[in-house]
Amino acid sequence: MKPSKFRYTAPSMVAEALDFLNEYGSDAKILAGGQSLVPMLNLRLARPKILVDINRVEELSFIRVEGDTLVIGALTRHAELEKSEIVKQNCPLLSEAAALIGSRAVRTRGTIGGSLAHCDPAAELPCVLHALGAEALVVSKQGERTISMDEFFITYFTTALRPDELIREIRVPVFTKRMGHAITEVWRRYGDFALVNVAAWIKTDSDEKVVGAGIALGGVGGSPHKAKAADLLVGKRPDEKAIKETAEAVADEISPESDNIASSDYRRHLAKVLTRRALTLAAARIRG
Ligand SMILES: Cc1cc2nc3c(=O)[nH]c(=O)nc-3n(C[C@H](O)[C@H](O)[C@H](O)COP(=O)(O)OP(=O)(O)OC[C@H]3O[C@@H](n4cnc5c(N)ncnc54)[C@H](O)[C@@H]3O)c2cc1C
Repeated sequence: MKPSKFRYTAPSMVAEALDFLNEYGSDAKILAGGQSLVPMLNLRLARPKILVDINRVEELSFIRVEGDTLVIGALTRHAELEKSEIVKQNCPLLSEAAALIGSRAVRTRGTIGGSLAHCDPAAELPCVLHALGAEALVVSKQGERTISMDEFFITYFTTALRPDELIREIRVPVFTKRMGHAITEVWRRYGDFALVNVAAWIKTDSDEKVVGAGIALGGVGGSPHKAKAADLLVGKRPDEKAIKETAEAVADEISPESDNIASSDYRRHLAKVLTRRALTLAAARIRG
């Protein structure tokens, strides 16, 4: 199939893009990497009256550190996250997650803003950004607002973004000393979306007791799930027993749906195993 007819515009500034989003509202669609939107256009699952192509908006493509925050422009490609030394040094979990997305071709075009806005329940970046407590800075003609990941994801392919809003940047707390991290996942074939993925980080004090932890899971519901059970680790050493108990508690707090790829029970089983593996690797990677 081919897309239904649409108008096309390629502004070079955010302000121009916002004018079109304001004028057309839900009849407009932002085109970033096109890796999710173009198939949806071809299948006519999306029928916008206008495509606002942001690929020429240079002010949306950057990676920088501001104090204790890693700030990433929405048009930053997955491949840039994967290779960037700034990301590797300040948020290695993000570069490892980017490397797991699809294939080299998908990573070369796909963007962090597009991945967040698309909100596929098994996508790596939304899962990692939720685990890390990131925020999205979004803009419209009405002004700007910051949305925490707790508020951003609603359900399958649905977020808190309004039709006239554009994600400008994503803000992620930088890694500090005594932190370890890991992302673990299971997929059927290389390049497929994961059945389940788990992103985790742990921070310890000088007594090697956990002072903070974050765990998020993809593929277990309509949007990434931030596990409350991460708090069970706080005050304990991240040893085998503590990790096993936490992984079991994580599996108990999710209710994945069965579908034609995996049953609910199998997804819950994967969630437990992958959480245990992620926490074990994260604990082993903690450095002073
Ligand atoms: C074969 C294949 C395999 C893939 N495998 C994986 C995988 O394993 N893991 C994974 O995570 N992803 C995977 N993807 C999806 C990929 O990560 C996409 O890059 C991502 O979902 C969307 O990013 P995009 O930049 O291509 O966005 P687009 O397709 O251009 O847009 C997606 C949606 O986001 C909106 N949007 C884009 N940018 C903004 C913005 N700045 N502000 C507001 N809204 C915006 C668009 O309007 C649209 O609704 C795969 C894709 C393909 C084609």
